Amino acid sequence: MIKETDIIIVGAGPVGLFTVFEAGLLGLDCILIDNLDKIGGQCSELYPEKPIYDIPGVPNQTAQEHVNALLEQIKPFNYEVFLNERVEVLEEINNDKISSWKIVTSEKKEFVAKSIFIAAGAGSFEPRRPPNILDPDKFVDKGVAYSVRSKEKYKDKNLLIFGGGDSALDWTVELADLAKSVTLIHRRDEFRGAPNTEAKMRELIKSGSISLKTPYVIEDLIGTSHITGASVKNFESKEIEEIPCDEILFLFGLNKKLGPIADWGIDMNNKKVSVDTEKFETSTKGLFAVGDINDYPGKLDLILCGFHETTLAVQEAYRRSYPGERVPFGYTTSNTKLQRKLGVSD
Ligand SMILES: Cc1cc2nc3c(=O)[nH]c(=O)nc-3n(C[C@H](O)[C@H](O)[C@H](O)COP(=O)(O)OP(=O)(O)OC[C@H]3O[C@@H](n4cnc5c(N)ncnc54)[C@H](O)[C@@H]3O)c2cc1C
Repeated sequence: MIKETDIIIVGAGPVGLFTVFEAGLLGLDCILIDNLDKIGGQCSELYPEKPIYDIPGVPNQTAQEHVNALLEQIKPFNYEVFLNERVEVLEEINNDKISSWKIVTSEKKEFVAKSIFIAAGAGSFEPRRPPNILDPDKFVDKGVAYSVRSKEKYKDKNLLIFGGGDSALDWTVELADLAKSVTLIHRRDEFRGAPNTEAKMRELIKSGSISLKTPYVIEDLIGTSHITGASVKNFESKEIEEIPCDEILFLFGLNKKLGPIADWGIDMNNKKVSVDTEKFETSTKGLFAVGDINDYPGKLDLILCGFHETTLAVQEAYRRSYPGERVPFGYTTSNTKLQRKLGVSD
């Protein structure tokens, strides 16, 4: 079934979320699509606990608190979110004076809207694959994963975690009690993650709850239809040993990839999407680009700049959904509809 809406937003980072708010004020509905398993873009994925100091009127808020506040702010409006789906294909539908756009995701879902907002930040985040393993993806969901979608999956399992950053440390600590065994494997005995999580991990080693193997790197995956183990190589002695296991997590961080956006035939500059500064429209009508993904003279990759851009862009989206009508303008302080939805009186 094809879902139809006013605006399809590619990317559920802070700018995508604020688009729902500004569109909602004009009575436009939105669909948000993100290839990550969570909402919040860079804020939630890269620096959830870091404080942000330059959101106007908010002296200090962690990045995750900022995302939570945006989610609270868009509660009154009509929108749907689709996660774990990468927007792959974009097709123009010319059946009206103003054309529509069809989007197809990696999960083969189809959506149609008059306006597409590309709020894709630095591109889609893709997990880094283990180096020197040929086609590790053939074991995905058969013992190999690049993120934790459900903790229950690791209950009573022998688990190997590869990596030396925050994710590897966090999940080693988090899954220590649930899994039958957890072995953290890293190429050196130094970690890039938060020092207090590293301290917790080292406490768990002392108490015998988990094992740590350094300096080791993955050499090969063992198994036929499902993983049964991994062979690892000592980085210094070059000796190879096999470790039996049921599940492996490769937590080597994320790469940013522009992905399919580069093939949509829109003007780009230095891997970013060129826009005008009146409507933040791309070289193709009905396709807008807001937030870190866009480029124009003077562009700064800041959240507040993305908020300004999308506020102006939704004006044009309204004109596309309601051609010939005046775009309503009003202060939120006198928006009685919104106040009713929020349960406050003016
Ligand atoms: C460490 C760090 C600290 C920062 N501190 C500040 C600060 O103090 N103040 C400030 O203003 N800014 C700060 N920034 C920058 C700020 O985070 C970005 O400006 C902001 O996240 C941009 O928001 P966005 O919504 O445009 O994109 P993003 O947050 O990058 O979100 C884009 C989303 O789109 C998704 N996506 C991309 N392509 C596709 C596709 N084809 N299909 C589906 N989904 C897709 C991505 O997975 C991602 O989730 C910081 C950044 C970092 C890394």
